[in-house]
Amino acid sequence: MVYRILRPDSLSVWQNDEIRKRFGRYRGIIDNHQVARYLVAKTIACEYSPSDSIENLEILLSQRSKEFNEILTQNFQTHQEREIVSKNYLTLSETLAIKYLEECIFCERQCRINRIDNEKGYCLISKDSYVSSAFLHMGEEAPLIPSGTIFFQGCNFGCVFCQNYDISQAWKGKKNIEEVAQKVDSKKLAELADNLVNKGAININYVGGDPIPNIHTILGNLNYQRSNITQLWNSNFFLTTKSLSLIIDFMDFWLPDFKYGNNECAKKYSGIDNYYDVITRNLKKIHDEGSGEIIIRHLVMPNHIECCSKPILEYVAKEIPNCVINIMGQFRPEYHAADYTEINRRPTSKEMKTVQDFASKLNIIWKPIS
Ligand code: SF4
Repeated sequence: MVYRILRPDSLSVWQNDEIRKRFGRYRGIIDNHQVARYLVAKTIACEYSPSDSIENLEILLSQRSKEFNEILTQNFQTHQEREIVSKNYLTLSETLAIKYLEECIFCERQCRINRIDNEKGYCLISKDSYVSSAFLHMGEEAPLIPSGTIFFQGCNFGCVFCQNYDISQAWKGKKNIEEVAQKVDSKKLAELADNLVNKGAININYVGGDPIPNIHTILGNLNYQRSNITQLWNSNFFLTTKSLSLIIDFMDFWLPDFKYGNNECAKKYSGIDNYYDVITRNLKKIHDEGSGEIIIRHLVMPNHIECCSKPILEYVAKEIPNCVINIMGQFRPEYHAADYTEINRRPTSKEMKTVQDFASKLNIIWKPIS
């Protein structure tokens, strides 16, 4: 396998005791003695109608979530031990997601526009989803390689230093999004995922732009996927409580960004309100109520060690101690960063060492994956 040559750390990382302990269920799915959560969800029968009110569907979703988490503790080893049913917890969640699209509240921008009627909010994505690429990614964190990565168009952030602007921003000037991306429905998305599984992916990695505007399509695609493969959410994590409830039980692994240690820096560079409050709320939820298998990506920004990096590390050590952090030094002054002199350079090696030493002092696990 070529990835063993390109990234030998993708094998050696599993010799680390903490990685094996913290990512035990994920490893179990790779080794096929644990079952991916979405397959379990498909075995939980659910009676509802698409014409039911949002309130009733939300009550049902919460009941099925409790049932799901009880079943998960049984720790069965193949999903064939339980029968998949056609109307299930997963299809319920997709139905509710489509209802939310009529007044979109997928992210905390809460544009509340009707995407079913092809209206567009901040992310500029209507009801259809677009994929710019899908491939085996060898550049992700060592435990994730080879990662079946699917890049969606559309982002709900507006970062002045966007590191991915060719995917996230550049298309906005084009008349037709189909010039730069492929339109996908749920079935097509599942075909892309299956293709990545056949090529050797050990997870399906939903990223962008951001996957948040595409929750409905991603949930729909899980109806078509059949493989016992980890589902991974790779996102800025600016989800609402309601949209996080749609996906929390179906994702096996989480790869959230944690960029800013306060609301003010987020407002200045990403145009986002209440960033720190929203992200910490969501991180706490996936740590305590979701799979809890999490790699946080912290992109160290120049001149933002005291206001961002250190508060983030202190929060992680205290509130979400089971996660692992990737302390990233790749920040480049891309896109409009030159307009902000304080971030118009790469972080220095001294800044990186300060952040790394601070993480070590707090006993945060970061070295095996950074
Ligand atoms: S997903 Fe897009 S349309 Fe929906 S609330 Fe967020 S930015 Fe607005």
